Amino acid sequence: MATGKINVSVENIFPLIKKFLYSDHEIFLRELVSNATDATLKLKHLASIGEAKVELGDPLIEIKIDKEAKTLHILDQGIGMTEEEVKKYINEVAFSGAEEFLDKYKDAGKDAGIIGHFGLGFYSSFMVADRVEILTKSYQDAPAVHWSCDGSPEFTLKKGKKKERGTEIILHIAEDSGEFLEEGRIRALLLKYNKFMPVPIKFGTRTETLPKPEGAGEDEPAPTREVDNIVNNPTPAWTKKPADLKDEDYNSFYRELYPMQFEEPLFHIHLNVDYPFNLTGILYFPKLNQDLALQKDRIQLYQNQVFITDNVEGIVPEFLTMLRGVIDSPDIPLNVSRSYLQADGAVKKISSYITRKVADKLNSLFREDRENFEKKWNDIKIVIEYGMLSEEKFFEKAEGFALYPTVDGAYYTLEELREKVSGQQTDKDGKLVLLYASDREAQHAYIRAARDKGYEVLLMDSPIVAHLMQKLETSKENLSFARVDADSLDKLIRKEDTQISKLSDEEQQTLKKQLEDVLGEKSPYTVQLEPADSEAAPFMITEPEFMRRMKEMQRTGG
Ligand code: ADP
Ligand code: MG
Repeated sequence: MATGKINVSVENIFPLIKKFLYSDHEIFLRELVSNATDATLKLKHLASIGEAKVELGDPLIEIKIDKEAKTLHILDQGIGMTEEEVKKYINEVAFSGAEEFLDKYKDAGKDAGIIGHFGLGFYSSFMVADRVEILTKSYQDAPAVHWSCDGSPEFTLKKGKKKERGTEIILHIAEDSGEFLEEGRIRALLLKYNKFMPVPIKFGTRTETLPKPEGAGEDEPAPTREVDNIVNNPTPAWTKKPADLKDEDYNSFYRELYPMQFEEPLFHIHLNVDYPFNLTGILYFPKLNQDLALQKDRIQLYQNQVFITDNVEGIVPEFLTMLRGVIDSPDIPLNVSRSYLQADGAVKKISSYITRKVADKLNSLFREDRENFEKKWNDIKIVIEYGMLSEEKFFEKAEGFALYPTVDGAYYTLEELREKVSGQQTDKDGKLVLLYASDREAQHAYIRAARDKGYEVLLMDSPIVAHLMQKLETSKENLSFARVDADSLDKLIRKEDTQISKLSDEEQQTLKKQLEDVLGEKSPYTVQLEPADSEAAPFMITEPEFMRRMKEMQRTGG
């Protein structure tokens, strides 16, 4: 038996780790199961290249609770460790890492942003345990090892009794962490962090009902047997090749991700890149015409199939946080604050890759099945319009598929609109004027009047549309928008055959004069007489476009 002193300057790691990671004690389980997974995958790899001559079998990870002993056990059948390796990986590497961590994050520890995202590894176990034991036996022919430490720099290391290959971590759960001895709590944690980890995780057993043997009587109970209760799906859809998946597979994975979500997603985007960074994942466009506030934080971030967080702020452009799904990338640094993250080169590349993939997908959906795309437009426009406003690159790409519906239910791209209305919806400077209504009912009379004149009227009723129109006007040449009840209609060059009014010129002048008198000299409103064949009112009073927009922007807070 050997005793030794761990080489760190801090006297007692345990209270420090507890203090710094205060808010997120539960991640210890994620870390330990990750280590068990790593150990299993390493062995599989060694076996596959002929380095390890072992009976591999179907290695499992097992989690057990011993309520009486107040211990939590994490067992794996992976590579295990020799005495040398325990000294090297647990004593030296691990604890010097802790010192570094404390040095680096002494002050940042208060920043909730980093807490819980830092992979503290093995010693996060001291957040919940006041003594930790490692029982391990290497796949190599070496004696088993038993390591034990109570969080002080003192540890013991002796020969162990473990017979099977692999490692068992025993946590003696601290008095104030009793929750981690509750089955329900552990199951919930496994489902949260380990649901898609690549090695099967057993937690207890469950009863499986078998088919009745032939000739069994009506009221004879079906036979049952106890089987391992595997809590995870080791091969989630995003780890597979898109070619091997059908729409139905994507939809059923969506349900696996969001068991409480009953609506089918509108479509999915499979992400898969390995250079210059590594990223896989599946994003889904959900139906978004519901309460937007409920839609955030639905993309889950994983690293090598380990759940990290569902707050992807700073990683995914903000307009895409309305989507759902999974992103898995080992290249996203997690031990930094969110504001730093946004400045990180790799993360920037990831963010623009995702943006591009989403734009490409929308583009191909539009090209391949326009009718279907039009049908979905109402549900997806918020993401697209918001993206056009907030991401320049997306704005450029969206030009190809962003649609502008008319009050008559037709959908046009901006380019198509230009072609359709040029020559007839032009003001005296030759600028194209696109008319739109924001409320079909309330603006009914104006819409009618404009249609009567042969003008196209768009229906622009999404909440950010005032901003989007302004953006289009400033970035596109020769383009302006005018609401159908604004004064701009009056300034359009009319088709020659349109007769303005049934009234004689003189009558028109008088009527106009009378109306203007009522409005008063300083009124910003304009009086406009209507065409003879219009079924709308004989005249209209319109508000200047700029006034209306100011009001609109005040209303939408922009
Ligand atoms: P990291 O996983 O980032 O390397 P950890 O502190 O989690 O850091 O673990 C330190 C090292 O201890 C691991 O790299 C590994 O070599 C060893 N180790 C931890 N747990 C196990 C295990 N269950 N089986 C084999 N080796 C392990
Ligand atoms: Mg680890």
